[in-house]
Formats: sequence, structure tokens, C-alpha cells
Amino acid sequence: MQNKPYKISKNVETLSAYTPGEQPQGGGWVKLNTNEFPYPPSPKIRAAVLAEMGGDCASLRLYPEPLSKKVRAAAAKYYGVHEDNVIVGNGSDDILNLIMRAFGGEDLKVAAMSPSYSLYPVLAKMQGAQLEEFDFGPQCKLPLEKIAKSGANVFILTNPNAPLGAAFAEADLKYIADNFKGLFVIDEAYAPFSNYSAAKFAAGRENVLAVCTSSKGWGLAGMRVGWAVADKNIIEILDRVRDSYNVDRLAQAAAVAALEDAEYYSGLVAKVVEERGKAEEFFASLGWDFCKSSSNFIFVRPRKNGAGGRDVASELFDFLKSEKILVRYWKGDPKICDGLRITVGTKPEMQKLKESVLKWISKE
Ligand code: PMP
Repeated sequence: MQNKPYKISKNVETLSAYTPGEQPQGGGWVKLNTNEFPYPPSPKIRAAVLAEMGGDCASLRLYPEPLSKKVRAAAAKYYGVHEDNVIVGNGSDDILNLIMRAFGGEDLKVAAMSPSYSLYPVLAKMQGAQLEEFDFGPQCKLPLEKIAKSGANVFILTNPNAPLGAAFAEADLKYIADNFKGLFVIDEAYAPFSNYSAAKFAAGRENVLAVCTSSKGWGLAGMRVGWAVADKNIIEILDRVRDSYNVDRLAQAAAVAALEDAEYYSGLVAKVVEERGKAEEFFASLGWDFCKSSSNFIFVRPRKNGAGGRDVASELFDFLKSEKILVRYWKGDPKICDGLRITVGTKPEMQKLKESVLKWISKE
């Protein structure tokens, strides 16, 4: 950039922004591209948000409670940990950002698996931190020894992995916690769809942080609330770099109501898991390769006339879009450009997806 009366910070000069999944405006889409919950959130949330607003929205004149104490307490109760072990963010992206600000830097390397959430490299670069990425072995195996010996200050594991969907063994998490000499961050955005959360484990360890979100399993992506559970020393450090009013009043009210209505969510999560199983059966019947998912999405490698690869995946992505079905596709990433990440939707949405896939297969 020339002839500007300012300079850009060194880390930002060559930074490319994270590219979020498309959020189409207007109706009529089957939206299976950003792993949102396919059902409305608990009805108790509506009541809680309306109560917070009051008849005339007068409460909005005042700043929110800065620490999101009620959300911390509700999350602590939900996981069976102490509220000193919890921090709340404006989405879990906010918390990932706090982690990088506090623990990443020019002399503090960050490590992560590849592929995983593509925001991590952006956040690491913003801090000027070197990012070391590890490949998965066959069947999504973690290179445990390499991770332990990486010399990174932060290792982030997405569990279950995004975009592949696979979950890792508890024994592997324990191995990393015991052997990695740094902060072990477990991003468990999709844990509500698996049968394990590391939150309680994290609270009992001095170097483990579990990052969670209301966006996926609680249907609150539009509210932007995430939380993390860790040793209270880690929470105290993250609080130092947190914006003072990082979670707005309505979001706090909604998150508390969501965390307190586990009963409502358990039935709906079970429905997602059931649809996921049926979708996996469908893809298996087509002979398509996919990772066994513990998330609310499936990463599938489509095939047509015996062939797979980038062009085939790209063609299916375009075809589905022409049918008003949106899925996620990373055309420019050589590791995953041969597959599509498909969010598990409602039964009718998944029916429409299957019909469109069959239509594509039979089309010349
Ligand atoms: N972690 C992972 C692995 C994700 O896929 C996402 C959502 N794209 C997030 C964190 C961030 O979620 P949010 O900011 O909505 O809480």
C-alpha cells in the first residue's frame, strides 16, 4: 500500500481475513454450510431475552454485567466445575482470540492439526506467532509424540475435528495433557454431538483449556456466546486481555436459559445424531468415503462414474447450490478440496439433500 499517511502493523500487513461460510440473504435455502443447529433454541430463551429487555428496552441503556457472572455460574453448574474455572466470550472465536493474545507471540509458537478450524492460522499470524501444523495419520490418528515434542507454547486440538468430524480417544487427550509442555487447548465446539466433553478434565489440570460454544449444540449462533473451562490461573490470565463488556445483556440472558434447559436440548441433539447416522448410511451406500462423524456434520468425498477428486467435489458443490442447498467447500485447500462438509439438518432437509445427490449422480 503506497502513499498512505499511516503504516500497517507488521503482522497485519500480509494477513488475509478468515473467510466465514456464506450466509445467504433471503429464504428458500437448505443451509447445510455452517454447522448451525437445525432446530430453534429452547423456548425459555425467548422468555429470558424478553424479560431482560423489559417493556421499553430500558435495560439496554446500561452496560451489561462485565464478567458475565451468571453465565459463568450456569456453565459451571452444567459441567460440575467451580465458576472460577469459567470464562465467557462473544462466541468461542472471542475466546480463541484471547488465548492467542495471551499465550501466542513472536517467541511463543502455536501448533495445531491440519486440517482443522481455519481461524487458528489467522489468529496466530495476528500475534506474529509461528504456526506448526501436524498432519493426521491414517484414520485420523494424532501424532502424539510429535505434539509432545513440538516446543509450542499452545497446541490447539479441535475435538471432534472440524472439518473432518472425527473425535479422538480420551487416552490421547490425557497423553497430550501429561506430555505436552505448554497450554493444551481443546476446542470442543462440536462436543455436544459426541459423547465426551473435556471441560471437567480441563478444570482439574493446570495446562488444559476446553473451549465451548452455544452456537452449535444450543442453537444460539446468532447470539454469539462461548465459554471456556480451565484452571483458575488460566482464566485469570484470559480475563486480563478480555474486552470489559464482551458479552451483551441479551446474549447473557439467552446463554443462561440455554445452559439451564439441558432436557430440551438432549432430545434434539439425539435427533441430529440419528439423522447423521442415516446420512452416513446413505453415503456408504453410494460407496463414498467419509470420516465417521462425532459432530453435527459429515465430511464426504463424492464420486461420480468411479472418479473422485477436486473437480468432482466442485461440480457437486455447484450442483447443490443450483438446487438451493448450501454446503461448505474449500476449493483452494489441497488437503480437503476433494470433499464437502455437510451439516446435518432436519429430516426434510436431509431428504432434499439425498434427492439432489441422486439427481446429480444420474445426470450426465
Ligand atoms: N471452533 C470451531 C471448531 C468452529 O467450527 C467454530 C465455528 N465456525 C468456532 C470455534 C467458533 O464458534 P463461535 O464463535 O460461533 O462460538
